[in-house]
Amino acid sequence: MDGHLRTIVIAGGGFAGTTLARALERRLPPGWQLVLVSEESYTTFHPMLAEVVGAGVFPEHVIAPIRPMLRSARFIMGRVQQVDAVRRSLECATLAGGLEIGYDHLVLAFGQRANLNIISGLADHALPLKLVGDAMHIRNRLLQRLAHIELSHDDQERAALGHFVVIGGGFSGVEVAGAIADFIQGARRFYRRIQPGEVRVTLLHDTDRLLPELPTKLGESAARSLRRRGVDVRLNARAVRVGARAVELTDGSTLAAHTTVCTIGTRSNPLVEGLGLATHRGRIVTEADGSIASHDGLWALGDCAATPNAADGAISPPTAQFAIAQASQLAHNLVARIEGTPTRAFSHRSRGMMATTGHQKGVAQAFGVPLTGLPAWLLWRAYYLMQMPTLGRKVRIWVEWTWSVFFPADITHLRFTRTEEVDMDSGLVLTAPKN
Ligand SMILES: Cc1cc2nc3c(=O)[nH]c(=O)nc-3n(C[C@H](O)[C@H](O)[C@H](O)COP(=O)(O)OP(=O)(O)OC[C@H]3O[C@@H](n4cnc5c(N)ncnc54)[C@H](O)[C@@H]3O)c2cc1C
Repeated sequence: MDGHLRTIVIAGGGFAGTTLARALERRLPPGWQLVLVSEESYTTFHPMLAEVVGAGVFPEHVIAPIRPMLRSARFIMGRVQQVDAVRRSLECATLAGGLEIGYDHLVLAFGQRANLNIISGLADHALPLKLVGDAMHIRNRLLQRLAHIELSHDDQERAALGHFVVIGGGFSGVEVAGAIADFIQGARRFYRRIQPGEVRVTLLHDTDRLLPELPTKLGESAARSLRRRGVDVRLNARAVRVGARAVELTDGSTLAAHTTVCTIGTRSNPLVEGLGLATHRGRIVTEADGSIASHDGLWALGDCAATPNAADGAISPPTAQFAIAQASQLAHNLVARIEGTPTRAFSHRSRGMMATTGHQKGVAQAFGVPLTGLPAWLLWRAYYLMQMPTLGRKVRIWVEWTWSVFFPADITHLRFTRTEEVDMDSGLVLTAPKN
């Protein structure tokens, strides 16, 4: 780091961190430098993870490398492990070993983690959907199950192998249930020993309607749309235990299923506990302008922050839309603080929310207007295509989406077996001839 320059460090390269870095690059005062530290070299475009599960897009197209997004800021791939807010320095683990970085302002933008400890057995047996690796893993698991059913002669086992349970009827649960239903129905034609009724999806949601953030009618419409695709939508159904072969519900019933996908539960990033900052439901409490009252020079935004929204007085929801809006506001406030001018309270009115319920179907509330079916689905695609960073990525995704209208979903079970692992990985036990 250039010792003559004063430094703003952003910890976390997700929606919030990268948007903030790009906004700050344009208005950084002379004498200041910007450093972005993130544990991965890319930003994950979470809203499209369900498309990866359903083989609608390639995994590498829902992640965007951070370096090409930045013009002047320095990017360091590393995991922030400790922050010393008194000495104003942070320690991070990098490929080249530990690195200490001094800062004048530090912005915490490291999101939240999935919480797999909210239901017994979840951590051991359920598949979370938070990272691109999770999405690829779920997709491979679906293909493994289809291959396994083909080889099984036991009807009970075949039924449980073909039963995919999704826990959580929020945006990601609804989207992944629709994507799985479409994918397994489309893929089934290549598994000729599997009958139509042998694969099915159940969506469990613990309140009386899906998508509680949207108006009741849209939640009901999402449930109808999923049911038309064959998804068994169970409302007021709460999982109490998840096992390798079954999910138990609070009403005592059991669903025989070998695959459970979990889209609920978040926990704070382990760094938050180490920092000893005030939290609200695991998120760092900030002032209205994004600063942290107890520590001068410390700021937070995005999913890891509980930032009040002046537009409605509520805490900002953990969504990409709010993370991006906060980033623009925080860029202004950081520069204002440096220049000694007043900062502004964060204020944002949601432009709307939307979810797909499978191919060519969705629900949306855009600028107060409710939409369902194909128009909602087209709006979803147009919006997220626009949000995708870089023209190259937009074109690739558009081509993939167009391709999937005419051709069946790709059923390649992509494994990362290396040459030296090939015999071990085959799972075959070779018996040496006795002489
Ligand atoms: C499956 C799914 C679907 C979603 N769908 C939608 C949707 O349709 N619409 C919507 O608005 N929102 C959606 N969201 C929510 C949205 O993705 C988040 O609100 C958004 O990503 C928050 O941005 P963020 O930058 O705060 O956190 P993140 O995007 O999680 O980024 C945090 C970054 O910090 C990095 N990091 C973490 N710890 C460290 C560390 N110690 N050191 C260095 N770097 C670190 C991580 O690698 C990551 O890059 C979805 C989320 C999921 C999981």
